[in-house]
Amino acid sequence: MNYQEIISKIYDEIKCDFGKGKLADYIPALANINCKKYGVAISTISGAKFNFGDAEEKFSIQSISKVFTLTMAFCRLKENIWQRVGKEPSGNPFNSLVQLEYENGKPRNPFINAGALVLADIVLSEYEHPQDQLLSFVRELSGNEDINFDLKVAASEKEKGFRNAALGNFMKSFGNITNNIDAVLDFYFHQCSISMSCMDLARSFLFLANHGIIPGNDKRILTISESKRISSLMLTCGLYDESGDFAFRAGMPGKSGVGGGIVAIIPKELAICVWSPELDKYGNSYLGVETLERFTTMTGVSIF
Ligand code: GLU
Repeated sequence: MNYQEIISKIYDEIKCDFGKGKLADYIPALANINCKKYGVAISTISGAKFNFGDAEEKFSIQSISKVFTLTMAFCRLKENIWQRVGKEPSGNPFNSLVQLEYENGKPRNPFINAGALVLADIVLSEYEHPQDQLLSFVRELSGNEDINFDLKVAASEKEKGFRNAALGNFMKSFGNITNNIDAVLDFYFHQCSISMSCMDLARSFLFLANHGIIPGNDKRILTISESKRISSLMLTCGLYDESGDFAFRAGMPGKSGVGGGIVAIIPKELAICVWSPELDKYGNSYLGVETLERFTTMTGVSIF
């Protein structure tokens, strides 16, 4: 398949839509990004790579990091993890508090912020050097040793992180956060601040497209069943309260972040990452969703 031709054709079709979304200005360090940035990278299981535009430029991965911490937490707690966090779509915004009270401090799924704070709490308890081990894990998956936290972004989010602090404290009152809240929030803001390019992200999600094994070095990260579970959660919950619409339009499991990235996979085939920082009203990249819908429509490659 000539993916190169397809991704440049998609850009020609959607470039008139710059300006329809809005930057994530609630995190001050993300408010000054050039909103015209746009990159796409594809990595296939057979080792081919395709990229377009700003695919090599690093950006803030934000909630895409939740897939990495879910993988780390799942590796340790196995199926017991579902006692701490649910697996249903929330139908609510990513930073919503409302459901938590009705559901006794157990977040609906690992990809809303409340769920990711529980994952952060698990990683803090289960790993001796959580921040270093998260970075090593992401470096291994992406094959890039030069991946780091962006300390300015982490500090900027901490400064305005009142809602996440509220979520953390609320869950602690139900006993679903075991570590000190400041430590949990600090880890969470660091994981969200990781800087990666579309090429890094496409490569690092390939293990999920490959039944839990990193293609190339054949290292198993998850069992087939665990890899299926994380991919299923991406399909049902990966784009917050736009997950159903995204599944309908693109037909692939994906995970977005408010830095404007979306990574998606086609099992046994490829991982694709799009970056465009202007967000729609759900907090997902406006042009990212447009791109992935066109990608599966034009190629006929989707999970269905
Ligand atoms: N760090 C962001 C927050 O907690 C992540 C949200 C996202 O990327 O969707 O608000």
